[in-house]
Amino acid sequence: MCGVFGIFGHSEAANLTYLGLHALQHRGQESAGIVTSDGDQLYAHRGMGHVIDVFPTDQIDKLKGNIAIGHVRYSTAGGSLLKNAQPLAVDYARGSIAVAHNGNLTNAEALREKLEERGSIFQSLSDTEVIVHLVAISTQRAVEDRVADALTLVQGAYSLVCLTEQSLIAVRDPHGIRPLCIGVLRTDPACYVIASEASCFELIDAKFVRDVEPGEMVIVDRRGIRSSHPFTHARPRLCIFEFVYFARPDSVIDGVSVYEARKNLGRRLADEHPVDADVVIAVPDSGVPATIGYAERSKLPFEVGLVRSHYVGRTFIEPQQSIRHFGVKLKLAPVAAVLEGKRVVVVDDSIVRGTTSRKIVKMLRAAGAREVHMRISSPPNQWPCYYGIDTPTRSELIASSHNLAEINQYITSDTLQYLSLDGMVNAIVKTTGGGSNGSSHRHLTTLNEPVPALTTESFCHACWSGDYPIEFIPHPRHRQMRLLDT
Ligand code: SF4
Repeated sequence: MCGVFGIFGHSEAANLTYLGLHALQHRGQESAGIVTSDGDQLYAHRGMGHVIDVFPTDQIDKLKGNIAIGHVRYSTAGGSLLKNAQPLAVDYARGSIAVAHNGNLTNAEALREKLEERGSIFQSLSDTEVIVHLVAISTQRAVEDRVADALTLVQGAYSLVCLTEQSLIAVRDPHGIRPLCIGVLRTDPACYVIASEASCFELIDAKFVRDVEPGEMVIVDRRGIRSSHPFTHARPRLCIFEFVYFARPDSVIDGVSVYEARKNLGRRLADEHPVDADVVIAVPDSGVPATIGYAERSKLPFEVGLVRSHYVGRTFIEPQQSIRHFGVKLKLAPVAAVLEGKRVVVVDDSIVRGTTSRKIVKMLRAAGAREVHMRISSPPNQWPCYYGIDTPTRSELIASSHNLAEINQYITSDTLQYLSLDGMVNAIVKTTGGGSNGSSHRHLTTLNEPVPALTTESFCHACWSGDYPIEFIPHPRHRQMRLLDT
Protein backbone atom coordinates (compact mmCIF):
# COMPACT_ATOMS: atom_id res chain seq x y z
CA MET A 1 0.00 0.00 0.00
CA CYS A 2 2.27 2.67 -1.34
CA GLY A 3 2.46 4.97 -4.31
CA VAL A 4 5.59 5.89 -6.22
CA PHE A 5 6.30 8.69 -8.66
CA GLY A 6 9.33 9.77 -10.70
CA ILE A 7 10.10 12.49 -13.22
CA PHE A 8 13.12 13.25 -15.38
CA GLY A 9 14.04 16.52 -17.04
CA HIS A 10 11.83 19.25 -15.63
CA SER A 11 12.91 22.46 -13.92
CA GLU A 12 10.04 22.07 -11.46
CA ALA A 13 10.58 18.38 -10.79
CA ALA A 14 9.86 18.67 -7.05
CA ASN A 15 6.61 20.57 -7.62
CA LEU A 16 5.35 18.08 -10.18
CA THR A 17 6.31 15.20 -7.89
CA TYR A 18 4.36 16.86 -5.09
CA LEU A 19 1.29 17.00 -7.35
CA GLY A 20 1.83 13.43 -8.49
CA LEU A 21 2.00 12.22 -4.90
CA HIS A 22 -1.10 14.21 -4.05
CA ALA A 23 -2.98 12.28 -6.76
CA LEU A 24 -1.58 9.01 -5.38
CA GLN A 25 -2.50 9.83 -1.78
CA HIS A 26 -5.16 7.07 -1.71
CA ARG A 27 -2.28 4.54 -1.88
CA GLY A 28 -0.84 5.55 1.49
CA GLN A 29 -1.35 8.25 4.06
CA GLU A 30 1.15 7.59 6.81
CA SER A 31 4.21 9.27 5.36
CA ALA A 32 5.40 11.03 2.22
CA GLY A 33 8.78 11.92 0.78
CA ILE A 34 10.53 13.45 -2.21
CA VAL A 35 14.18 13.20 -3.27
CA THR A 36 15.55 15.36 -6.10
CA SER A 37 18.83 15.60 -7.97
CA ASP A 38 20.48 18.63 -9.54
CA GLY A 39 22.82 16.37 -11.50
CA ASP A 40 25.42 16.44 -8.81
CA GLN A 41 23.78 16.15 -5.45
CA LEU A 42 20.57 14.69 -3.99
CA TYR A 43 18.11 16.66 -1.83
CA ALA A 44 15.64 14.79 0.38
CA HIS A 45 12.67 15.55 2.55
CA ARG A 46 10.39 13.03 4.25
CA GLY A 47 7.74 13.36 6.90
CA MET A 48 4.85 11.66 8.62
CA GLY A 49 1.35 12.48 7.42
CA HIS A 50 -0.36 13.52 4.22
CA VAL A 51 1.52 15.05 1.30
CA ILE A 52 -0.04 18.45 1.91
CA ASP A 53 1.22 18.48 5.52
CA VAL A 54 4.70 17.10 4.83
CA PHE A 55 5.52 19.63 2.09
CA PRO A 56 4.89 23.28 2.87
CA THR A 57 5.97 25.49 -0.07
CA ASP A 58 9.26 26.55 1.49
CA GLN A 59 10.18 22.88 1.90
CA ILE A 60 9.56 22.10 -1.78
CA ASP A 61 11.70 25.10 -2.77
CA LYS A 62 14.68 23.45 -1.07
CA LEU A 63 14.38 20.37 -3.29
CA LYS A 64 16.54 21.45 -6.21
CA GLY A 65 17.12 19.83 -9.56
CA ASN A 66 15.29 18.51 -12.57
CA ILE A 67 15.02 14.83 -11.60
CA ALA A 68 12.83 13.67 -8.71
CA ILE A 69 11.20 10.64 -7.16
CA GLY A 70 8.49 10.54 -4.51
CA HIS A 71 6.65 8.12 -2.31
CA VAL A 72 3.48 7.91 -0.24
CA ARG A 73 3.47 5.13 2.27
CA TYR A 74 1.25 2.95 4.34
CA SER A 75 3.39 0.62 6.40
CA THR A 76 3.15 -3.04 5.47
CA ALA A 77 6.70 -3.92 6.54
CA GLY A 78 8.65 -1.97 9.08
CA GLY A 79 6.04 -0.07 11.07
CA SER A 80 4.83 3.50 11.16
CA LEU A 81 8.03 5.42 11.90
CA LEU A 82 9.72 8.37 10.22
CA LYS A 83 12.89 6.35 9.75
CA ASN A 84 10.90 3.92 7.57
CA ALA A 85 9.52 6.72 5.41
CA GLN A 86 10.63 6.71 1.78
CA PRO A 87 12.31 7.38 -0.58
CA LEU A 88 15.36 5.91 1.15
CA ALA A 89 18.43 7.88 0.09
CA VAL A 90 22.06 6.95 0.72
CA ASP A 91 25.60 7.79 -0.29
CA TYR A 92 27.72 4.78 -1.12
CA ALA A 93 31.16 4.23 -2.65
CA ARG A 94 30.00 4.90 -6.22
CA GLY A 95 27.72 7.87 -5.60
CA SER A 96 24.22 8.44 -4.28
CA ILE A 97 20.98 6.59 -4.81
CA ALA A 98 17.41 7.00 -3.60
CA VAL A 99 14.75 4.29 -3.85
CA ALA A 100 10.95 4.43 -3.56
CA HIS A 101 9.26 1.04 -3.39
CA ASN A 102 5.70 -0.23 -3.67
CA GLY A 103 5.30 -3.87 -2.67
CA ASN A 104 6.76 -6.26 -0.13
CA LEU A 105 9.80 -8.48 -0.47
CA THR A 106 9.21 -12.03 0.70
CA ASN A 107 12.84 -12.91 1.46
CA ALA A 108 13.87 -9.55 2.94
CA GLU A 109 14.54 -10.85 6.43
CA ALA A 110 16.83 -13.65 5.26
CA LEU A 111 18.77 -11.24 3.02
CA ARG A 112 19.02 -8.73 5.82
CA GLU A 113 20.51 -11.29 8.16
CA LYS A 114 23.15 -12.18 5.59
CA LEU A 115 23.95 -8.51 5.01
CA GLU A 116 24.21 -7.84 8.74
CA GLU A 117 26.52 -10.80 9.18
CA ARG A 118 28.90 -9.21 6.69
CA GLY A 119 28.75 -5.84 8.44
CA SER A 120 25.87 -3.89 6.94
CA ILE A 121 24.21 -1.46 9.33
CA PHE A 122 20.51 -0.81 8.78
CA GLN A 123 18.79 2.45 9.56
CA SER A 124 15.22 1.21 9.28
CA LEU A 125 13.02 -1.86 9.36
CA SER A 126 11.83 -1.27 5.82
CA ASP A 127 12.44 -4.15 3.41
CA THR A 128 13.37 -1.53 0.82
CA GLU A 129 16.62 -0.88 2.65
CA VAL A 130 17.73 -4.39 1.76
CA ILE A 131 17.62 -3.37 -1.91
CA VAL A 132 19.73 -0.28 -1.21
CA HIS A 133 22.39 -2.37 0.55
CA LEU A 134 22.43 -4.90 -2.26
CA VAL A 135 22.94 -2.10 -4.80
CA ALA A 136 25.82 -0.74 -2.72
CA ILE A 137 27.69 -4.05 -2.58
CA SER A 138 27.10 -5.07 -6.20
CA THR A 139 30.29 -5.52 -8.22
CA GLN A 140 28.70 -4.18 -11.42
CA ARG A 141 29.92 -0.80 -12.74
CA ALA A 142 26.87 0.91 -14.27
CA VAL A 143 24.20 1.87 -11.78
CA GLU A 144 21.39 0.21 -13.74
CA ASP A 145 23.40 -3.02 -13.72
CA ARG A 146 23.90 -2.69 -9.97
CA VAL A 147 20.15 -2.27 -9.49
CA ALA A 148 19.44 -5.27 -11.73
CA ASP A 149 22.11 -7.28 -9.90
CA ALA A 150 20.54 -6.45 -6.53
CA LEU A 151 17.04 -7.30 -7.69
CA THR A 152 18.03 -10.74 -8.97
CA LEU A 153 18.54 -11.64 -5.28
CA VAL A 154 15.23 -10.39 -3.97
CA GLN A 155 11.88 -12.13 -4.20
CA GLY A 156 8.44 -10.67 -3.84
CA ALA A 157 6.57 -7.69 -5.16
CA TYR A 158 8.26 -4.50 -6.18
CA SER A 159 7.47 -1.57 -8.35
CA LEU A 160 10.42 0.75 -7.84
CA VAL A 161 11.58 4.16 -8.88
CA CYS A 162 15.26 4.88 -8.21
CA LEU A 163 17.05 8.19 -8.49
CA THR A 164 20.76 8.69 -9.02
CA GLU A 165 22.58 11.95 -9.59
CA GLN A 166 21.85 11.75 -13.32
CA SER A 167 19.18 9.17 -13.98
CA LEU A 168 15.75 7.87 -13.16
CA ILE A 169 15.33 4.09 -13.11
CA ALA A 170 11.98 2.29 -12.86
CA VAL A 171 11.60 -1.46 -12.32
CA ARG A 172 8.61 -3.77 -12.04
CA ASP A 173 9.08 -7.24 -10.57
CA PRO A 174 8.95 -10.23 -12.94
CA HIS A 175 5.39 -11.10 -11.89
CA GLY A 176 4.24 -7.49 -12.24
CA ILE A 177 2.32 -7.77 -8.98
CA ARG A 178 2.13 -4.02 -8.35
CA PRO A 179 1.29 -1.61 -11.17
CA LEU A 180 3.74 0.89 -12.67
CA CYS A 181 3.33 3.01 -15.77
CA ILE A 182 5.08 5.53 -17.99
CA GLY A 183 3.76 8.92 -19.03
CA VAL A 184 5.10 11.95 -20.84
CA LEU A 185 4.34 15.63 -20.35
CA ARG A 186 2.10 17.03 -23.09
CA THR A 187 4.06 20.28 -23.01
CA ASP A 188 7.47 18.58 -23.20
CA PRO A 189 7.74 15.25 -25.04
CA ALA A 190 11.23 14.73 -23.63
CA CYS A 191 10.00 14.83 -20.03
CA TYR A 192 9.04 11.35 -18.87
CA VAL A 193 7.16 10.48 -15.72
CA ILE A 194 6.74 7.13 -13.98
CA ALA A 195 3.94 6.42 -11.53
CA SER A 196 2.07 3.70 -9.70
CA GLU A 197 -1.14 4.74 -11.40
CA ALA A 198 -1.92 6.73 -14.51
CA SER A 199 -4.66 8.57 -12.62
CA CYS A 200 -2.02 11.05 -11.43
CA PHE A 201 -0.99 12.07 -14.97
CA GLU A 202 -3.91 14.38 -15.74
CA LEU A 203 -3.09 16.62 -12.80
CA ILE A 204 0.38 17.33 -14.19
CA ASP A 205 -0.79 17.50 -17.82
CA ALA A 206 0.97 14.27 -18.76
CA LYS A 207 -0.40 11.57 -21.03
CA PHE A 208 -0.20 7.85 -20.50
CA VAL A 209 2.40 6.12 -22.70
CA ARG A 210 2.25 2.51 -21.53
CA ASP A 211 2.64 0.25 -18.51
CA VAL A 212 6.08 -0.84 -17.42
CA GLU A 213 6.09 -4.51 -18.34
CA PRO A 214 6.51 -7.18 -15.66
CA GLY A 215 10.27 -7.75 -15.30
CA GLU A 216 11.14 -4.61 -17.24
CA MET A 217 13.66 -1.95 -16.23
CA VAL A 218 13.19 1.51 -17.72
CA ILE A 219 16.08 3.97 -17.59
CA VAL A 220 15.68 7.67 -18.28
CA ASP A 221 18.78 9.85 -18.52
CA ARG A 222 20.20 12.51 -20.80
CA ARG A 223 20.43 9.93 -23.59
CA GLY A 224 16.64 9.52 -23.49
CA ILE A 225 14.52 6.57 -22.41
CA ARG A 226 15.46 2.93 -22.89
CA SER A 227 14.40 -0.40 -21.46
CA SER A 228 15.82 -3.81 -20.66
CA HIS A 229 14.57 -7.11 -19.29
CA PRO A 230 17.29 -8.24 -16.90
CA PHE A 231 15.31 -10.92 -15.06
CA THR A 232 14.19 -14.43 -15.84
CA HIS A 233 10.72 -14.36 -17.33
CA ALA A 234 7.93 -15.28 -14.91
CA ARG A 235 4.21 -15.64 -15.36
CA PRO A 236 2.57 -12.21 -14.85
CA ARG A 237 0.48 -12.14 -11.68
CA LEU A 238 -1.00 -8.68 -11.32
CA CYS A 239 -2.70 -8.06 -7.98
CA ILE A 240 -6.42 -8.33 -8.69
CA PHE A 241 -7.18 -6.43 -5.50
CA GLU A 242 -6.03 -3.28 -7.29
CA PHE A 243 -9.15 -3.61 -9.46
CA VAL A 244 -11.49 -4.63 -6.67
CA TYR A 245 -10.58 -1.96 -4.16
CA PHE A 246 -7.25 -0.27 -4.11
CA ALA A 247 -6.54 1.63 -7.32
CA ARG A 248 -8.35 4.83 -8.24
CA PRO A 249 -11.25 4.19 -10.63
CA ASP A 250 -9.87 6.60 -13.23
CA SER A 251 -6.70 4.50 -13.56
CA VAL A 252 -6.04 2.02 -16.35
CA ILE A 253 -3.77 -0.84 -15.27
CA ASP A 254 -2.18 -3.18 -17.81
CA GLY A 255 -4.81 -2.12 -20.33
CA VAL A 256 -7.81 -2.50 -18.01
CA SER A 257 -9.92 0.44 -16.87
CA VAL A 258 -10.37 0.10 -13.13
CA TYR A 259 -13.79 1.76 -13.37
CA GLU A 260 -15.02 -0.56 -16.11
CA ALA A 261 -13.57 -3.57 -14.31
CA ARG A 262 -15.51 -2.66 -11.16
CA LYS A 263 -18.72 -2.19 -13.14
CA ASN A 264 -18.20 -5.60 -14.70
CA LEU A 265 -17.67 -7.11 -11.25
CA GLY A 266 -21.07 -5.66 -10.28
CA ARG A 267 -22.76 -6.99 -13.43
CA ARG A 268 -21.35 -10.44 -12.82
CA LEU A 269 -22.41 -10.28 -9.17
CA ALA A 270 -25.97 -9.50 -10.30
CA ASP A 271 -25.86 -12.49 -12.69
CA GLU A 272 -24.63 -14.82 -9.95
CA HIS A 273 -26.71 -13.50 -7.07
CA PRO A 274 -29.88 -11.61 -8.06
CA VAL A 275 -32.25 -10.32 -5.36
CA ASP A 276 -35.91 -9.37 -5.40
CA ALA A 277 -35.49 -5.85 -4.01
CA ASP A 278 -36.53 -2.19 -4.42
CA VAL A 279 -33.23 -0.36 -4.56
CA VAL A 280 -29.47 -0.89 -4.89
CA ILE A 281 -27.06 1.22 -2.85
CA ALA A 282 -23.27 1.30 -2.60
CA VAL A 283 -20.88 1.37 0.29
CA PRO A 284 -19.00 4.45 -0.93
CA ASP A 285 -16.58 5.19 -2.46
CA SER A 286 -14.85 2.10 -3.82
CA GLY A 287 -18.12 0.11 -3.98
CA VAL A 288 -19.87 2.62 -6.26
CA PRO A 289 -18.84 1.40 -9.75
CA ALA A 290 -19.70 -2.23 -8.87
CA THR A 291 -23.07 -1.04 -7.57
CA ILE A 292 -23.78 0.80 -10.81
CA GLY A 293 -23.01 -2.44 -12.68
CA TYR A 294 -25.22 -4.45 -10.33
CA ALA A 295 -28.13 -2.02 -10.66
CA GLU A 296 -27.80 -1.84 -14.43
CA ARG A 297 -27.80 -5.62 -14.85
CA SER A 298 -30.56 -6.28 -12.31
CA LYS A 299 -32.69 -3.38 -13.63
CA LEU A 300 -33.10 -1.99 -10.13
CA PRO A 301 -32.77 1.71 -9.33
CA PHE A 302 -29.36 2.85 -8.09
CA GLU A 303 -29.67 5.30 -5.20
CA VAL A 304 -27.29 7.00 -2.80
CA GLY A 305 -28.31 5.33 0.44
CA LEU A 306 -25.05 5.95 2.29
CA VAL A 307 -23.12 9.19 2.31
CA ARG A 308 -19.42 9.14 2.99
CA SER A 309 -17.64 11.88 4.85
CA HIS A 310 -14.52 12.89 2.95
CA TYR A 311 -12.91 14.39 5.99
CA VAL A 312 -11.76 11.09 7.49
CA GLY A 313 -9.38 8.49 6.03
CA ARG A 314 -10.38 5.16 4.53
CA THR A 315 -11.01 2.92 7.52
CA PHE A 316 -9.51 -0.14 5.89
CA ILE A 317 -6.10 1.40 5.76
CA GLU A 318 -6.04 3.12 9.12
CA PRO A 319 -3.36 1.21 10.96
CA GLN A 320 -4.74 0.89 14.45
CA GLN A 321 -7.78 -1.07 15.53
CA SER A 322 -8.93 1.71 17.87
CA ILE A 323 -8.98 4.24 15.02
CA ARG A 324 -10.68 1.78 12.69
CA HIS A 325 -13.67 1.29 15.02
CA PHE A 326 -14.00 4.98 15.54
CA GLY A 327 -13.71 5.57 11.80
CA VAL A 328 -16.77 3.51 10.79
CA LYS A 329 -19.08 5.85 12.65
CA LEU A 330 -17.33 8.92 11.38
CA LYS A 331 -17.28 7.78 7.81
CA LEU A 332 -20.78 6.79 6.73
CA ALA A 333 -24.26 8.22 7.22
CA PRO A 334 -27.53 6.66 5.96
CA VAL A 335 -30.04 8.55 3.77
CA ALA A 336 -33.39 7.70 5.35
CA ALA A 337 -35.38 9.05 2.38
CA VAL A 338 -33.84 6.34 0.18
CA LEU A 339 -34.09 3.53 2.72
CA GLU A 340 -37.39 3.84 4.57
CA GLY A 341 -39.61 0.82 4.02
CA LYS A 342 -37.38 -0.48 1.19
CA ARG A 343 -35.85 -3.84 0.41
CA VAL A 344 -32.26 -2.74 -0.02
CA VAL A 345 -29.36 -4.41 -1.85
CA VAL A 346 -26.11 -2.99 -0.50
CA VAL A 347 -22.98 -3.67 -2.59
CA ASP A 348 -19.51 -3.55 -1.06
CA ASP A 349 -16.15 -4.64 -2.45
CA SER A 350 -15.04 -6.86 0.43
CA ILE A 351 -15.67 -8.05 3.95
CA VAL A 352 -12.51 -8.19 6.03
CA ARG A 353 -13.27 -8.66 9.71
CA GLY A 354 -17.03 -8.23 9.35
CA THR A 355 -17.24 -5.46 11.94
CA THR A 356 -17.77 -2.68 9.39
CA SER A 357 -20.43 -4.65 7.47
CA ARG A 358 -22.27 -5.39 10.71
CA LYS A 359 -22.36 -1.68 11.57
CA ILE A 360 -23.53 -0.77 8.08
CA VAL A 361 -26.41 -3.26 8.21
CA LYS A 362 -27.39 -1.96 11.63
CA MET A 363 -27.23 1.61 10.34
CA LEU A 364 -29.44 0.81 7.32
CA ARG A 365 -32.05 -0.93 9.45
CA ALA A 366 -32.08 1.95 11.94
CA ALA A 367 -32.73 4.30 9.02
CA GLY A 368 -35.82 2.29 8.04
CA ALA A 369 -34.64 -0.38 5.57
CA ARG A 370 -37.15 -3.28 5.56
CA GLU A 371 -34.68 -5.85 4.24
CA VAL A 372 -30.90 -5.63 3.81
CA HIS A 373 -29.23 -7.90 1.25
CA MET A 374 -25.45 -7.66 1.28
CA ARG A 375 -23.66 -8.39 -2.01
CA ILE A 376 -19.86 -8.45 -2.20
CA SER A 377 -18.04 -7.87 -5.50
CA SER A 378 -15.18 -10.24 -4.61
CA PRO A 379 -14.99 -13.74 -3.06
CA PRO A 380 -14.60 -14.40 0.69
CA ASN A 381 -11.27 -12.97 1.79
CA GLN A 382 -9.54 -15.82 3.60
CA TRP A 383 -5.78 -15.36 3.25
CA PRO A 384 -3.33 -12.60 4.16
CA CYS A 385 -1.33 -10.71 1.53
CA TYR A 386 2.47 -10.93 1.60
CA TYR A 387 2.98 -8.64 -1.37
CA GLY A 388 2.23 -5.17 -0.13
CA ILE A 389 -1.47 -4.86 0.71
CA ASP A 390 -2.19 -4.52 4.39
CA THR A 391 -4.61 -7.30 5.22
CA PRO A 392 -5.08 -8.64 8.73
CA THR A 393 -3.70 -11.98 9.86
CA ARG A 394 -5.65 -15.04 8.84
CA SER A 395 -7.27 -15.39 12.25
CA GLU A 396 -8.74 -11.89 11.93
CA LEU A 397 -10.30 -12.53 8.52
CA ILE A 398 -13.86 -13.57 9.23
CA ALA A 399 -14.15 -15.76 6.13
CA SER A 400 -11.17 -17.87 7.15
CA SER A 401 -13.07 -19.31 10.11
CA HIS A 402 -16.77 -18.77 9.30
CA ASN A 403 -18.97 -20.05 6.50
CA LEU A 404 -21.42 -17.96 4.50
CA ALA A 405 -24.38 -18.60 6.83
CA GLU A 406 -22.31 -17.74 9.89
CA ILE A 407 -21.02 -14.48 8.38
CA ASN A 408 -24.55 -13.57 7.31
CA GLN A 409 -25.73 -14.18 10.84
CA TYR A 410 -22.87 -12.14 12.29
CA ILE A 411 -23.40 -9.10 10.10
CA THR A 412 -27.20 -9.49 10.58
CA SER A 413 -28.09 -9.12 6.88
CA ASP A 414 -31.18 -10.85 5.45
CA THR A 415 -29.01 -12.47 2.80
CA LEU A 416 -25.32 -12.33 1.98
CA GLN A 417 -23.60 -13.45 -1.22
CA TYR A 418 -20.09 -13.08 -2.62
CA LEU A 419 -18.91 -13.02 -6.22
CA SER A 420 -17.20 -16.29 -7.19
CA LEU A 421 -13.45 -16.44 -7.90
CA ASP A 422 -14.11 -17.39 -11.53
CA GLY A 423 -16.64 -14.62 -11.78
CA MET A 424 -14.18 -12.04 -10.46
CA VAL A 425 -11.35 -13.08 -12.78
CA ASN A 426 -13.57 -13.37 -15.84
CA ALA A 427 -15.29 -10.04 -15.18
CA ILE A 428 -11.91 -8.29 -15.26
CA VAL A 429 -10.59 -10.18 -18.25
CA LYS A 430 -13.82 -9.36 -20.08
CA THR A 431 -13.08 -5.68 -19.46
CA THR A 432 -9.83 -5.95 -21.38
CA GLY A 433 -11.13 -8.19 -24.13
CA GLY A 434 -8.25 -10.58 -23.30
CA GLY A 435 -8.29 -14.31 -23.99
CA SER A 436 -7.89 -17.24 -21.64
CA ASN A 437 -4.40 -18.37 -22.56
CA GLY A 438 -1.55 -16.73 -20.68
CA SER A 439 1.31 -18.58 -22.30
CA SER A 440 2.36 -16.18 -25.06
CA HIS A 441 5.01 -13.67 -24.11
CA ARG A 442 7.20 -11.21 -25.91
CA HIS A 443 9.23 -8.34 -24.59
CA LEU A 444 8.23 -4.83 -25.51
CA THR A 445 10.97 -3.05 -27.37
CA THR A 446 9.40 0.32 -28.05
CA LEU A 447 7.40 2.79 -26.03
CA ASN A 448 4.47 2.62 -28.41
CA GLU A 449 3.59 -1.04 -27.97
CA PRO A 450 0.84 -1.79 -25.46
CA VAL A 451 1.51 -4.51 -22.87
CA PRO A 452 -0.05 -7.87 -23.81
CA ALA A 453 -3.73 -8.22 -22.81
CA LEU A 454 -4.42 -9.75 -19.41
CA THR A 455 -5.79 -13.27 -19.40
CA THR A 456 -7.42 -15.41 -16.73
CA GLU A 457 -3.91 -16.64 -15.85
CA SER A 458 -2.46 -13.15 -15.35
CA PHE A 459 -3.55 -12.42 -11.79
CA CYS A 460 -2.57 -12.92 -8.20
CA HIS A 461 -5.75 -13.69 -6.25
CA ALA A 462 -4.05 -15.37 -3.30
CA CYS A 463 -6.00 -13.52 -0.62
CA TRP A 464 -9.12 -15.26 -1.93
CA SER A 465 -7.68 -18.53 -3.26
CA GLY A 466 -4.56 -19.15 -1.15
CA ASP A 467 -2.69 -19.67 -4.45
CA TYR A 468 0.42 -17.60 -3.71
CA PRO A 469 2.57 -16.92 -6.77
CA ILE A 470 5.74 -16.35 -4.71
CA GLU A 471 6.75 -18.32 -1.69
CA PHE A 472 6.75 -16.33 1.53
CA ILE A 473 9.65 -17.21 3.80
CA PRO A 474 8.46 -16.82 7.38
CA HIS A 475 11.17 -15.74 9.76
CA PRO A 476 11.19 -16.56 13.48
CA ARG A 477 12.69 -13.24 14.56
CA HIS A 478 10.24 -10.38 14.87
CA ARG A 479 12.32 -7.25 14.68
CA GLN A 480 11.75 -4.08 16.58
CA MET A 481 13.63 -0.84 16.24
CA ARG A 482 15.57 -0.37 19.42
CA LEU A 483 16.75 3.09 18.43
CA LEU A 484 13.76 5.43 18.28
CA ASP A 485 13.98 9.03 17.10
CA THR A 486 11.75 11.31 19.11
S1 SF4 B 1 -2.55 -11.67 -2.08
FE1 SF4 B 1 -4.35 -10.44 -2.68
S2 SF4 B 1 -3.85 -8.32 -2.16
FE2 SF4 B 1 -1.93 -9.50 -2.16
S3 SF4 B 1 -1.06 -9.26 -4.21
FE3 SF4 B 1 -2.29 -11.13 -4.24
S4 SF4 B 1 -4.35 -10.46 -4.89
FE4 SF4 B 1 -3.21 -8.64 -4.28
